Amino acid sequence: MNTNKPYFIVKENLQKSSITGEYFRDQVTPDVLQDVCFKITGEKDFEYLYVGNDFTNNELSATYNKGRLAILYYKDVVNFITFSEENINGRNSSVQSVATAFNIYFNCNSLTKNLFYYFLVKNGNIETSYHKFIYRLMKTVGFNFLNSQEYLTDTIEPFTSIPDLMLMRRTNSGRNQSNNPTYLTKSSSQNIDLYGKTYGASKYETSLLCYAISELAKIKNQTVTLYEVTEGNLRILPKSSRDVIQKMGNIQIVQSDFALERNSFDQNDSLRSPRYIYNLLDRLGKKKCAFCGCEIPEIIHGAHILPVAYIKKYSNLSLEQKLQMATDGNNGLWLCENHHKLFDEHIIDIAYDGKILISEYLSNSNKMFVQKITTKNNIDKNIMTEQFTQYLAKRKEVVNF
Ligand SMILES: [Zn+2]
Repeated sequence: MNTNKPYFIVKENLQKSSITGEYFRDQVTPDVLQDVCFKITGEKDFEYLYVGNDFTNNELSATYNKGRLAILYYKDVVNFITFSEENINGRNSSVQSVATAFNIYFNCNSLTKNLFYYFLVKNGNIETSYHKFIYRLMKTVGFNFLNSQEYLTDTIEPFTSIPDLMLMRRTNSGRNQSNNPTYLTKSSSQNIDLYGKTYGASKYETSLLCYAISELAKIKNQTVTLYEVTEGNLRILPKSSRDVIQKMGNIQIVQSDFALERNSFDQNDSLRSPRYIYNLLDRLGKKKCAFCGCEIPEIIHGAHILPVAYIKKYSNLSLEQKLQMATDGNNGLWLCENHHKLFDEHIIDIAYDGKILISEYLSNSNKMFVQKITTKNNIDKNIMTEQFTQYLAKRKEVVNF
């Protein structure tokens, strides 16, 4: 569509408009459109059309207003404007429509297109550390904020690199970082690992995070693996988000399916389980060797306290129960490659009080070497949960130290 006069098309219905009586056109009024128009085009004169669910064109499909969008056509350019909710309660209320709006924008074939965000907020705190994180993700994937200076005290800066993003995410999650929907880490220099819950309200946050990481990974030609950690009924990212991720091209999606892991567990004595890594990240936070404090994620592993090979020997447990033990975040800690091997070979062990023990059977020079690289005397208290100690007891039953 080529229009020399700014021209809006707005779907007037929200998903539940017929039930709630709240229509999108009552929020995005002609006055709001006028402000949007002026901010984007510098023009005050414009036309607009509110349309029903059955309206379709290149940008819009026959449905209610997904993504809380208005489309503004002006001089060959297609502008997508997504609007915040009026009442912000809780974390995810705005994120949902943001990812959806991005998907629609991303799939638009126009060569000249722009993406905008407009605050309509009347109630609620929109500048929590969580919101600021989301705004920066949005800026990273190309959202332009039209009226943020009227609502926010801080300027929104895009993330410039993945470490930059990881740092804010850590700061954001604070000390008690358990139960984040997603964790970011690395297993090699060329690959970023994203462990994500991809169901419920988390799926929109995970989508947005994926888009931003994909964008940043391009800078250094890195690739990204998204491990989808599912629970119960298999539920994965929405199809629209998956399609976008696929088109972005540098993100591989690996489903951490329980049946698959059960097979792998059945056939191998070691277990490469995304679920186990997710559970460790959830319990212990970022990768950091418990024996020496090394924080280089590429060389840090999840190390089992009760090894997989021993779990498999329990004849009184079902396969499900065994798999649960093998993927339990309490049955493990982070160790660097050296310390993982030393622990597996029982050259280093852990006492019930958390003291790190070095085998008496080493030669003096080897013992000195191990002492030198093992800079800690005790493992951190937060690792030593009751269940962890139970796994330690089982380890001591089956392993002769
Ligand atoms: Zn170490």
